[in-house]
Amino acid sequence: MSKLIKRRKLYEQIAELIQEEIAHGLLKVGEQLPSERDIMAKYGVGRAAVREALFALAKMGLIAISSGERARVIEPSPAVVVRELSGAARLFLNTETGIRQFQEARLVFEAALARRAAEIATAEDLAAIRAALDANLAAHELKRFAETDVAFHSAIAKVGGNPIFPAISDAVTEWLYAQRHGTARVPRAAQLAREWHEKIYEAIAAHDVAAADAAMRGHIEQVNGFYWQLRDAESRQQAREATRLGRLVPHGA
Ligand SMILES: [Zn+2]
Repeated sequence: MSKLIKRRKLYEQIAELIQEEIAHGLLKVGEQLPSERDIMAKYGVGRAAVREALFALAKMGLIAISSGERARVIEPSPAVVVRELSGAARLFLNTETGIRQFQEARLVFEAALARRAAEIATAEDLAAIRAALDANLAAHELKRFAETDVAFHSAIAKVGGNPIFPAISDAVTEWLYAQRHGTARVPRAAQLAREWHEKIYEAIAAHDVAAADAAMRGHIEQVNGFYWQLRDAESRQQAREATRLGRLVPHGA
């Protein structure tokens, strides 16, 4: 029965020990890690385990490995932190409840970011949001529309310079996009989104906090609504298909 409990691999233990050294400041941002040989000697393990441990730490965004040089401790970026949550988020989005909760969280979060942008956006911020909007207005192909949509929301999240906001905004939008790949198939969905984007931009540019909040809410609520409309349509389609196939299968003799 103990076979069911997977033993922690050697490299995972090494990675954890190095991670602790970083957390406790024994290895500081910018510093080089000891050489592979030294790490092997320190922990009494082989080269393969050390390499795997370093690779795992690099994937976690804690160290950078460049060929010919020793690994170096780097500043963890919010984008990497959020990306690390990706697997769990996608599992969560497998359920209808999970999707509804993510949609609600996005609504509250994006509306707050729009309000904040209306309060503090500088001329430079407004130019960046305007450029993102123009790219979105010009995007007619589906994939391009999705990319420029994420970028528009990201430009609003970047106002104020806190990197955690765009990291979360990008990730949540992308996770939901993975779920609502079909939303843009709702007739006029992309066009309506573009119109909301213009309203959002204009409210932020006018520093009208209430209008920015209302426009962002209107936009996200509509996107969420389209998602469920499309999902209903798809399940009705599937039901029809099942009935049609059911008729084709001969029952009895
Ligand atoms: Zn949008």
